[in-house]
Amino acid sequence: MSGDHHHDHDHNHDHDHGHAHSPPQPDEKVHSYHQILSIALKELLIEKGVVTAAEVRSFIEKRDSITPGNGAKVVARAWVDSAFRARLLEDGNAAAAELGFPITGTKLVAVENTPETHNVVVCTLCSCYPRDLLGLPPSWYKSRAYRARVVREPRAVLHEFGTEIPDEVALRVHDSTADIRFLVVPQRPAGTHDLDEEALAALVTRDSMIGVVRLEEGPR
Ligand code: FE
Repeated sequence: MSGDHHHDHDHNHDHDHGHAHSPPQPDEKVHSYHQILSIALKELLIEKGVVTAAEVRSFIEKRDSITPGNGAKVVARAWVDSAFRARLLEDGNAAAAELGFPITGTKLVAVENTPETHNVVVCTLCSCYPRDLLGLPPSWYKSRAYRARVVREPRAVLHEFGTEIPDEVALRVHDSTADIRFLVVPQRPAGTHDLDEEALAALVTRDSMIGVVRLEEGPR
């Protein structure tokens, strides 16, 4: 990390980077309305004995331990094991659980990219996302612009991600709900036939599993 000293609130020396006389900047650590609400709720639940602070902490730790790497392992397994791939497309929850990634409370639907079809995922209403498998969604996924535009003009939005989907390839946009979450299984890149499952998983990016990018060719 370098050059990020503008946000360092810990230093106690005078600012020396050129805006000593500019008006004070808003403190980024001031909480928003919803942050205050969630802190108040958490404190109330703890005070009333509904949950303990340790339980809250353990839940957050568990949530933070979920990364796109989990989804990448599912995708890589599907690439190397056609029986698993079939099970994944049939029942996403059961297939993810096989690899040690239980998904509770929502249905996981895996949608596979092929030479004929490209899939992309959105939640037009809010920010539904396969959090149990991929962790927290990126901020752009939650943005009003992405949610509205990817439905209306998906090719233009994907173009902004550097992804060109030819006209002859069908583009399917999947709208997530409170109950149904989607995992895009990207196409296995060319030139990866001699990679093992772990090396394949390392190629699978979060954005490819949302469907806004395609995977580049693997290392030669
Ligand atoms: Fe949502």
